[in-house]
Amino acid sequence: MPRKILHLDLDAFFCAVEEKSDPSLRNKAFATGGSREGRGVVTSCSYAARKYGIHSAMPMAQALRLYPDLIIVHGHFMEYRSYSKLVMRILKNLTPVVEQISIDEAFLDVSDLPSESKRIASDLQMQIYSSLGLPSSIGGASNKLVAKIATNIAKSTHTGNTYPMAIKIIPAGKEKEFLAPLPVKEMWGIGPKSDEFLNKLGIQTIRDILNFPKITLDKHFGKFADDLIRRAKGVDSRLVRDHEGIKSVSNERTFFENIREEKQLLGQIKELSEKVGKRLRKKGLAGRTIRIKIRWHGFETHTRQLTLGQATNHDSVIFSAAKELFFSIWKTGKPVRLIGIGVSKLGEDIHQLSLFNQSYIREDNLLEAIDMINKRYGDHTIRKGMKIRSDHSWKD
Ligand SMILES: [Mg+2]
Repeated sequence: MPRKILHLDLDAFFCAVEEKSDPSLRNKAFATGGSREGRGVVTSCSYAARKYGIHSAMPMAQALRLYPDLIIVHGHFMEYRSYSKLVMRILKNLTPVVEQISIDEAFLDVSDLPSESKRIASDLQMQIYSSLGLPSSIGGASNKLVAKIATNIAKSTHTGNTYPMAIKIIPAGKEKEFLAPLPVKEMWGIGPKSDEFLNKLGIQTIRDILNFPKITLDKHFGKFADDLIRRAKGVDSRLVRDHEGIKSVSNERTFFENIREEKQLLGQIKELSEKVGKRLRKKGLAGRTIRIKIRWHGFETHTRQLTLGQATNHDSVIFSAAKELFFSIWKTGKPVRLIGIGVSKLGEDIHQLSLFNQSYIREDNLLEAIDMINKRYGDHTIRKGMKIRSDHSWKD
């Protein structure tokens, strides 16, 4: 029996939440993130704004050039996070097999439910809409890869100012047929650089990958060529996994002599962040919660953590977060005996086929957006928003 996998993605999530608190935004072209001065990036934008070519992760300055009357709304991370939790709770009520992949996206394995995928999807969509007022789109297929692409295609063909609330189910056996005519950039894991590269080789659609001489693909993509071909056929055997059981990936270092120099301490934090990032990438994992552990001169130990909107295994993202956490507890000159960096809330690194090392553009932008909020509202805001928590019991 083929599996029944659903991929759910909330529609313009941050904007939908903002609209709930300010209904006058309805049907207007607005975006969250950045600032009026045009710094930072768009973290989410309404469908009315998308008509002008604006999309999330775009620099705000560019968005304003496209549509100078764009309304900019400051984001409310705490609210997004609590709504996200409520949505995930609804999903987990339906099936225990839920894999959250970002603040507003998750896979569900509904194979054990008797109804058809389409029925399950529309009931679920209605339940989320009626209980939380949040619109969502759902893709369904026999595997994660095709379900995710189905959601994206269903959303991208939507026009108008309203939320798409789309549902697209690809019947088992039709995976390859569904993918064949799509542009290669629709392939999950193909970023802009890979897209450009494939286009240069003459590969425009997913079908072209399958018609391309295997030997040339091998030459260019090495061990990833087989993976690419498998995906182009719509084959994906990965399970929907709840990664909450997997513990964190962390590294710590005890110093020979206590360190009190800021520069030296940051150097250590950077090295540890790189080690953790490397280990995560090696395991094909990414995590959303970054933690720092610090032991002072005695044995007194503190930990702090923050949770990002999107999972990462990028050294510089881990480092920036760890640095932020470090400065929330360290006072200049205070001698440090041990530092540990850990990443938890792990999931599969789903962003890239690992063809090229460029899966991090969005995360960098996200981080930039967080920096922006800090600059405008002071550090306190983001700490609160990002849920930095003191936890004395962190053990590896
Ligand atoms: Mg979304």
